[in-house]
Amino acid sequence: MRETTDHIVDLIERLGRIARSAQHAEGMKPAQWEALRFLARANRFSRTPGALADFLSSTRGTVSQTLIALDKKGLIKRKANLGDARIKQLELTKEGRAIVNRDPLHMLEKAVASVGEEPGLAENLERILRNIIHQHGNRPFGVCLACRHFRCDGASSHARGPHRCMLSGEPLSDVDSNQICREHEARAA
Ligand code: SF4
Repeated sequence: MRETTDHIVDLIERLGRIARSAQHAEGMKPAQWEALRFLARANRFSRTPGALADFLSSTRGTVSQTLIALDKKGLIKRKANLGDARIKQLELTKEGRAIVNRDPLHMLEKAVASVGEEPGLAENLERILRNIIHQHGNRPFGVCLACRHFRCDGASSHARGPHRCMLSGEPLSDVDSNQICREHEARAA
C-alpha cells in the first residue's frame, strides 16, 4: 500500500515537473499561463485580481505583477465592475484567447486522451486536491453545476440565462454554469 502511495506521489511530481517546464512557451512565465487559464475558465463573479490570487494561493502583490505583465503583452484588459467600482473585472483580449488556444498543457491533454479516460481517475485526483486545499484553508473553487447555490430552471426565459445563482440572485447561462467560481460550495452528495 505504502509502495503504491509513494509511486502515485512520484508520478504526480514528475507530471508536475513536465507541466512546469512546458510553461515557458511563447516567452511567458508559468504564473502568466496560470492566470490566463483561470480567466478563460472563471465566471464573471470570479474574474477579479482577488479571486485569481485565491485560486493560485498567491499574494495580491504577486498576482498584481503577473497582471501588469499580461496587460503589457495585450493579453488581458481591465473593466470597471458594475456592482463595485473599486473592483476591477478582468477579461481576456482577442490575443489572450488566441494564446490560451496554444496552451502548452494541451500536450498533457493529448497524452491523457491517448491512454483513454479512466473512470474514477479525475474524481480521485479531485478528491486529493480538495483535501489539500481544505488543509491549507484555501477556497476550493468549482463549477455552478456542482454547487449547492445553483438552481437549474429550464422554464425561465430570462435574457441572460435559464438558471440562477441563489447566493447572488444573478441569472446564469449554460456557459456560466460550466465556469469555475470563487463562491462555489459543493452540493451534498
Ligand atoms: S451557483 Fe455557486 S458556483 Fe455558481 S455563481 Fe453561484 S455561488 Fe458561484
